[in-house]
Amino acid sequence: MSEVIVPNFRGRAARGRPEVIAGAVAERMDSRWSSARRYDRRAVVTATEALTPTGTVRVDLEVVDGGPFDFEPGNFVGIEAFDPGLGYRRSPYCILSPPSHDGRFSLLVRVVPDGPVSQFLGALLPGDEVAFRGPSGRAMVRLGTGDERDLVLVATGVGIGPFLSLAGHLLVGGYRRRIDLFWGLRLADDLCLVDELARLEDDHPNFSFDVTLSQPSPGWPGRRGRVTDLVAEALDGLAGRRFLLSGNGAMVAELAAALAEVGVPQLDVYEEPFFDARHVPDPAVVAAIRDKFVAGGALPSPAAAGLDLFHLERPLGADRLAS
Ligand SMILES: Cc1cc2nc3c(=O)[nH]c(=O)nc-3n(C[C@H](O)[C@H](O)[C@H](O)COP(=O)(O)OP(=O)(O)OC[C@H]3O[C@@H](n4cnc5c(N)ncnc54)[C@H](O)[C@@H]3O)c2cc1C
Repeated sequence: MSEVIVPNFRGRAARGRPEVIAGAVAERMDSRWSSARRYDRRAVVTATEALTPTGTVRVDLEVVDGGPFDFEPGNFVGIEAFDPGLGYRRSPYCILSPPSHDGRFSLLVRVVPDGPVSQFLGALLPGDEVAFRGPSGRAMVRLGTGDERDLVLVATGVGIGPFLSLAGHLLVGGYRRRIDLFWGLRLADDLCLVDELARLEDDHPNFSFDVTLSQPSPGWPGRRGRVTDLVAEALDGLAGRRFLLSGNGAMVAELAAALAEVGVPQLDVYEEPFFDARHVPDPAVVAAIRDKFVAGGALPSPAAAGLDLFHLERPLGADRLAS
């Protein structure tokens, strides 16, 4: 049996027998190597769990390429999958677990119909090998910078993943300011990880989370409606807070535009759209969220504050809206 040379994560050659090389790795021995080699890190699946009947899975992985794996909440890995019909497909996934230095990490994945990489991740079994690159991306909030602020975390769907990593990391690390998490889902069947969130809430009085469903069944006893409305109604002020938004690109863009309109500096808003990243905010939706911030008491009414925020020639969030 002849040997196959498999370039490893540092670009050096390693030797392996063809029968032990994962299909995707062997496929890479072709002329596409040059574009694929950034995905030359390897992790092995240690566990998987289907978390919802609607297609949300947790995948636990362990890095096995011998390279370092240090990350901060908000960082993501790029996963590569080989689809016989489509070729190599790559998509980024935020890390769900809090930072650790043992090479272990978890992903929270929504399996998307006709989505090749999410389908690949959703079908993994313990022992399977995954090709990836990273971790990459920005840190959401750093501990110990001396700039502790109240944090407002707003997620839809699997956008909750990086916030679990962040909240766990900050709270265990002694973060003293408030961390309030608002999570929007479509159905009660989409709910997951509630025990983990409840544990954080029990252990840390400065943490809270609230869930709302946009399409609940009639018997749903909890909150209903869009997560943007929930945030706007729940906050009693905006000053000094940092806003972190993650998930559906429409939610992220529209809430960010509304926050800009009510005067929150852009630097205090962190955006992580998972899909529909080029969504152009709908002016009517933005106006409705903005009005809820005023009605909910987060902002003094423009008249009371002597402001004319809503009739500015160029509203603060105008550059985010369709012309
Ligand atoms: C920085 C970043 C971090 C991300 N982190 C995560 C994560 O932690 N978990 C996760 O599941 N996804 C995450 N995503 C989305 C992920 O990268 C893929 O877009 C998604 O899994 C679909 O990829 P695919 O290759 O299977 O299908 P694709 O062919 O890339 O996408 C198929 C279709 O599904 C849409 N789509 C993608 N995600 C969703 C969704 N959640 N709900 C509905 N439609 C969707 C796409 O817009 C596209 O139209 C992240 C995206 C970015 C940019």
